[in-house]
Amino acid sequence: MPGVPDCTQILNLSEGTVVDNLKARYDADEIHTYVGSMLVVLNPYKLLPIYDDKHMGTFAGVRLTQASPHVFALAEEAYLALQRDLTSQSIVISGESGAGKTESAKHMVRYISWRARKDPSAPMAKLADALVRENPSLEAFGNASTTRNANSSRFAKFVRLHIGSDGQLARVLVATYLLEKARVTSHVPGDRNFHIFYQLCACVADGAPSADARRKELRLPANAKPDAFTYLRPSAGSKPAGAAPVAAGGALELEATVSVLGAAGIAAYQSSGVLRIICAVLQLGNVAFGPAAGGSESSAPADARSLDAPQALLGMVDIAPLLLERRLTVAGMHEQLVIALTPAQCAGARDALARSLYELVFIWIVRAINRGLGGADATDGRATSELPFIGMLDVFGFEDFETNGFEQLCINFTNERLQQFLVERIFKAEARLYVEEGVPQPGATSGAQFVDNAGCVDMIGGAPSGIFRLLDSQCISPQATDAKFVASVNETHLPSVFLRPPTRRDGKAALRDDVFKIRHYAGDVVYSRMGFVGKNSDALDSHVAKALSATTDAFLKELLALGKERDDGAAKPTAKGRAATGGRGAASGGSGSLSRRFAAELESLINTLSAGGAHFCRCIAPSGQGGIAAKPKAFDRPAVVTQLKADGTFDAIRLMKSGYPVRVPFASLHTKFLPLLKDVSPEVAGLSATQFAELLAAVVGVRQEDAMLGSTRIFLRGSAAVAFDELRARPA
Ligand code: ADP
Ligand code: MG
Repeated sequence: MPGVPDCTQILNLSEGTVVDNLKARYDADEIHTYVGSMLVVLNPYKLLPIYDDKHMGTFAGVRLTQASPHVFALAEEAYLALQRDLTSQSIVISGESGAGKTESAKHMVRYISWRARKDPSAPMAKLADALVRENPSLEAFGNASTTRNANSSRFAKFVRLHIGSDGQLARVLVATYLLEKARVTSHVPGDRNFHIFYQLCACVADGAPSADARRKELRLPANAKPDAFTYLRPSAGSKPAGAAPVAAGGALELEATVSVLGAAGIAAYQSSGVLRIICAVLQLGNVAFGPAAGGSESSAPADARSLDAPQALLGMVDIAPLLLERRLTVAGMHEQLVIALTPAQCAGARDALARSLYELVFIWIVRAINRGLGGADATDGRATSELPFIGMLDVFGFEDFETNGFEQLCINFTNERLQQFLVERIFKAEARLYVEEGVPQPGATSGAQFVDNAGCVDMIGGAPSGIFRLLDSQCISPQATDAKFVASVNETHLPSVFLRPPTRRDGKAALRDDVFKIRHYAGDVVYSRMGFVGKNSDALDSHVAKALSATTDAFLKELLALGKERDDGAAKPTAKGRAATGGRGAASGGSGSLSRRFAAELESLINTLSAGGAHFCRCIAPSGQGGIAAKPKAFDRPAVVTQLKADGTFDAIRLMKSGYPVRVPFASLHTKFLPLLKDVSPEVAGLSATQFAELLAAVVGVRQEDAMLGSTRIFLRGSAAVAFDELRARPA
């Protein structure tokens, strides 16, 4: 087998030799490799025969240190740890888009569902099957085709598999975060909108009798092609990203999505409600605005009929007021203030409504699926959701695009927090290994000494002047603008944001209000001001929500109730500023701040992870940004290096190098080196593997302080390990 299964066995361990090892293995279709207790997975871009039941069988009951590298081995390690410690275990999967996170997560979910049942016909097997079955329907609403991945998840997901005291799967709970709802109303060429929209169009185009009924119910024009809808065309002005979009999903896919929803226990009125709202969103996109006749300041729909379909689908008599004007509740005044919007503002209100409705549908579906996966509560006296779980976190990796905005800030903040968590945990895992092997651990006392990104985390999420706080305080001011927000970031955090402002004529530095820059652990990222204020306040306007509550549609009523519950649950920004006159802050009645809700969700997730064991799976796209055009075997070295840096693998190696980074099991040393020494002195053949390792260390002249003998392996400093390697290279 080429290379070594664990990078910590590389005798001259460095970033370069780690990449060499990964490549040698990848060339031989060995896509899994350990770095100590972490698992690195390289996307093979082809099906490998390594995931079937027979393979599963070889991992059951085997500790990670004994098992060949595989996602099943990592899942088994989590399962064994849960049973041993009776605490929850999380598997944190990271990597860039298209690296194989979601595929790896699915394999691990399958493995645990297989492992956590004694009898394949036991009732809980149904639960696992249901999860696998319902996944496509979640993907229809949350995934999209992008230039990097034809089925890219546009949300982060934490799947919890709760295990009962009998070791069997008792309940599944799915939590989702950071749905990329901006995609509903705009996407770049080469990307597409969420799959469900194309499924809808395909269903209508099909011409089947059932399709005709659907078409009427959804008020879609005959032969509705995706091109007929503004939201399904790439945004004007955005640069083409290259790869062509993938063919639209067929009508069968829509019916499959619907029937899966039905199987999850969703009533027929609800699943047709889902489709109606999705269609309403699509039709809203086709409403355009112009100045109203008569020369007043107000606006009007360019085509009055364009409101017919969306308002019928929403069960509303007239939605024009929701799009044409903004209502404000002003402190001290009884009446609401009604402000007529310009055509551009109307388009903004339309898009905000479309995104909010879509997001509510998505959250509703996640909830419904969770109810369907509930299983029976209160087995052995506890609610099944209280049982320890194996959690699989599938979250986007660090992002640095040509232009970066609010979404990238949230994603990169998530990665900063997860990186802190990783380093602490790898550090602890190291400490544990030293204890298990009975050798003293040298060096640092905390993982924070390796990647101290606490400053960066605080700069983004801290109180009172972290970037999210600055954004919130901008959003509640009456004349909030992106430029003022960016200027406040640069004013507060220079020089820590590291962007040299242009120098003015008078020699003084001007305050930049177009971009700010953050030094992340994975690299510097420049954020441009576009859309921060709008996106942070992108909750369903309370006046709009109130107007919509007049709907005759029972399903929309449910959605609105869900939205209200969510907003009430979220922490609210201080009420002081928002009671003032006018402005966005006063206008948004709900929780208002997306960053605040996101930061609260992230903290609760980190707390959940911190409370139990953790295991790390790092996915790599070896072809780099080749995306969906990627070929098997392509290996772009610089791209792999960038990804290993971004996902913390190199930091983990650096951390290990501070101690004894190379750990070679006695047995493997024995196999490799015995032939070399036996010729010199035959009696070495009689030594035990441990004695042999000791002798070998003496022979190659390793100084005492550079090596330690553990109970199953020898620990070596880098320099000493090289001496071993040289012995092997020496001509006989
Ligand atoms: P991510 O979730 O990281 O964006 P995905 O898991 O969706 O990436 O993987 C992208 C694509 O790469 C998949 O659709 C599949 O074609 C391929 N792929 C990923 N992992 C594997 C694997 N283990 N075996 C075969 N193909 C894979
Ligand atoms: Mg994914």
